[in-house]
Amino acid sequence: MNFSDFKLDDRINQGIESIGFEKPTPVQELAIPEILSGNDLIACAQTGTGKTAAYVLPLLHGILTQKERSGNIKALIIAPTRELAVQIDQQLEGFSYFAPVSSIAVYGGGSGTDFEVEKKAIKTGAEVLIATPGRLISHINSGYVNFDRLKYLILDEADRMLDMGFQPDILKIISFLPKNRQTLLFSATMPSDIRAFAKKILNNPNEINLAVSKPAENVLQAAYMAYDNQKIALVKKLITGKELPSVLIFSATKASVKDLERELLRLKMNVKAIHSDLEQEQRKEVLRQFRNREIQVLVATDIVSRGIDIDDISLVINYNVPQDAEDYVHRVGRTARADKTGVAITFINQKEVRNFTNIEKLIGSEIRKLPLPPEIGEGPDFNTRSPHKRRFVKRRPGRKGN
Ligand code: AMP
Repeated sequence: MNFSDFKLDDRINQGIESIGFEKPTPVQELAIPEILSGNDLIACAQTGTGKTAAYVLPLLHGILTQKERSGNIKALIIAPTRELAVQIDQQLEGFSYFAPVSSIAVYGGGSGTDFEVEKKAIKTGAEVLIATPGRLISHINSGYVNFDRLKYLILDEADRMLDMGFQPDILKIISFLPKNRQTLLFSATMPSDIRAFAKKILNNPNEINLAVSKPAENVLQAAYMAYDNQKIALVKKLITGKELPSVLIFSATKASVKDLERELLRLKMNVKAIHSDLEQEQRKEVLRQFRNREIQVLVATDIVSRGIDIDDISLVINYNVPQDAEDYVHRVGRTARADKTGVAITFINQKEVRNFTNIEKLIGSEIRKLPLPPEIGEGPDFNTRSPHKRRFVKRRPGRKGN
């Protein structure tokens, strides 16, 4: 499927092209036609799946093709955090580069001047309002927000908003909106409280559910419990003396990637690092050398995990447990491509056990924990209780209110 199949307004297609998206992602393929048909929608999709464009594109199309385009709020997007609000606004600006649609993101934490700028944009007719709940209520309470022409309400990361206690605020905001509107709810998870909430605010919604990806069956996955100071020796042990032409090691930050490159060079390994401090041309060159097997070991941050397409990586090492379980799937997906078998090994330190169990939950299976080679010493236990358990101190009776 191509973006042109959605028959979006040409000016939007131009925006998509200039941003460089070539094909719709699965959530876009499913959600865009549903939204264009005018139905309410519940979409279970995580960040990273392309969910923002999945609602922004049909929304822009709806606004651009409206008969009457008086400058008033047509769409309200509610998001849990200022970071997400800003990201949504940036994507929207990109897609509407060739189309006259105005937007403003309103969120807390800024100065009084910001509030005045937001107020002016709202009063003078921004068509898309992207807002965090508390800030929007402050504007509504000031009396100048006019939702009479609103056609779309989008709740993004709804599960997170409920976790953050925003349900009453959102219901209050909705009480100011016209009943005749299209409502879209996006959420990474669908627990029962989200379903109950959705029932209150959506009208006969359709539902789409994106199954999370899993590593291919032919990847052999295993893990070691290891303290940080044991990890270099473990990498050396895993690689040296073996027939492993291409090894990809992921580490969390560019600083740790650079450190690891230095340590492995000291061990005389044929290694290079790739991270966001390198220029595009330098990155390309490192990847070319890795592809041609001039370099045996590539150390990388997650920028590489989604982007590169290199066959025949014999071993992927996760030097740390990725924060986001989906990143694990992307990293591990670099091996065993195209019917080949591959091995993915993760190092888990004592603080990362919980994150690792989240990965096991996501992929629906337990990953085998191997004992460390004896010369490396004992690693930490695989203990799922937090190492930083809070201690509660009981108050002594009879000493109130000090
Ligand atoms: P999101 O899930 O909306 O946070 O999007 C995750 C990332 O995927 C963003 O950086 C988008 O710019 C990017 N993205 C979304 N749709 C596409 C697409 N069809 N092709 C390539 N990248 C995309």
